[in-house]
Amino acid sequence: MLNCELGMGKTFDIGLERLTGRSEFSIGRSIPTKNEGSAIPAQASPEAAELGAVRGALRGTFFLETFGCQMNDHDSEKVAGVLLSRGYQQVESPQSASLILYNTCSIREKAAQKVFSRLGEFGLRQNEGRIIGVLGCVAQQEGEEIFRRAPWVSLVCGSASYSKLPELLAQVEAGNQRVTGLDTDTDETFETPVTRRDNPWRAYLTIIEGCDKACSYCVVPYTRGPERSRASDSVLREVKQLAELGYSEVQLLGQTVNSYADPTARKMRFSELLLAVADEPGIKRVRFTTSHPRDFSQDIVDAIDAQPKLCNHVHLPVQSGSTRVLQTMQRTYTREEYLERIAMIRGAKRTISITTDIIVGFPGETEADLGETLSLLDIVKYDAMFSFKYSPRPHTPSVRMSDAIPEEEKSRRLAVLQEKQREIQAVRHSAMVGQRFELIVSGKSRRENQWSGHTSCHRVINFSSQEQALLGKYVQVQVTGATPNSLVGEQAL
Ligand code: SAM
Ligand code: SF4
Repeated sequence: MLNCELGMGKTFDIGLERLTGRSEFSIGRSIPTKNEGSAIPAQASPEAAELGAVRGALRGTFFLETFGCQMNDHDSEKVAGVLLSRGYQQVESPQSASLILYNTCSIREKAAQKVFSRLGEFGLRQNEGRIIGVLGCVAQQEGEEIFRRAPWVSLVCGSASYSKLPELLAQVEAGNQRVTGLDTDTDETFETPVTRRDNPWRAYLTIIEGCDKACSYCVVPYTRGPERSRASDSVLREVKQLAELGYSEVQLLGQTVNSYADPTARKMRFSELLLAVADEPGIKRVRFTTSHPRDFSQDIVDAIDAQPKLCNHVHLPVQSGSTRVLQTMQRTYTREEYLERIAMIRGAKRTISITTDIIVGFPGETEADLGETLSLLDIVKYDAMFSFKYSPRPHTPSVRMSDAIPEEEKSRRLAVLQEKQREIQAVRHSAMVGQRFELIVSGKSRRENQWSGHTSCHRVINFSSQEQALLGKYVQVQVTGATPNSLVGEQAL
């Protein structure tokens, strides 16, 4: 059971480390970066002497902090690639950087506030000539308002404009104090010749950007622009390169990944693309997230059944168990239609784990609606759940809806929902004790002989092994203990 805002323990890894805090396990290999000299030219402004002193000392260094989902994580990997290819070197703290970038999330109010508190840490004086930029969803949402609230910011760029990042950076480097990239009417996807990847074994790959759905609570269509799919041949070329570089797991990303529509004459279906990616020698696991229930079809389940390299995990956000609430959310499916998709997945020959997202306290949600959501949990028995209190967002239809639910009531409903899921997870996890799973080892604990890794069904298991140098290897682990939020085991030899 996962809740970003409460930072609860997790047994699934859907890329929320930056919101939930670092775990005691760390990735064991750092990614080499290169510094081929500075791309920052001398300042021409009146403050040139002061700015020049700081930039001279920190010349060509950048600090990049990311908030939000895996899409943001991967965007940051690509932004870092753009900067590295311009000769910048990545550093670990804003104090050591001449360029500070925040890649932001505005999906909920709390996430959006975080960036302004970060920006508050760099008042005009402490800024000391550094270039500060805001990227991502808050940049798109707030636009030039960011310059008013934080006049020390020089670059504001939404994710739909990332393909223009090199030219925007060139303007900032030339001393331009107010540079924006805020178009969303692009049909381009963000591809770079260099991507600096955070994980040495698992690579993210965005196959579809933006969103054409119009969920009434969601700011994504506004901040990320219209849906655009990447050409299948370009995706497959990158997968080949990744396999050659030693990545064994790829995760295909998109806000609605299964709405993928190949823009080439080949017109590959999403399920065909999955199978083609898995066909690449060297690739051992293929994941995909997030699937939209409306576009989830039998051929995806058939592909998972046919190809063991396709991971047996589907993240299928339901948002609410009440058809009435789903209609006001504009989710385009009913409770019954959603349950048909679940039956499709449960009908697979392999056991496929299912996880979801749920929002409580949507305007007008009644006690009976909440009851419907709880009963849905009883029927589906999710392997994990991300749960959120509804947060009104600017530029969304639901912000104007009446019947807002008070904050304390939202918190109560969230607690009820989480308790139900906790009970379900306790049973599901207990049933795993004694079973064996193949893990890719992705973390080493500070404690002696303790490791962690992911199953194909995307559970994290912490396990003991006497072996050394396990990072990145695939091992068999027997589960020896379980709580509702964690699994422990030992390597099976
Ligand atoms: N595209 C995915 C889908 O359709 O399910 C969801 C992407 S969104 C980044 C991740 C989750 O954030 C959503 O599934 C939803 O549960 C939650 N979310 C989005 N907008 C929200 C809001 N205004 N308040 C609370 N939670 C929200
Ligand atoms: Fe937001 Fe709905 Fe698009 Fe998901 S499908 S990104 S929830 S608008």
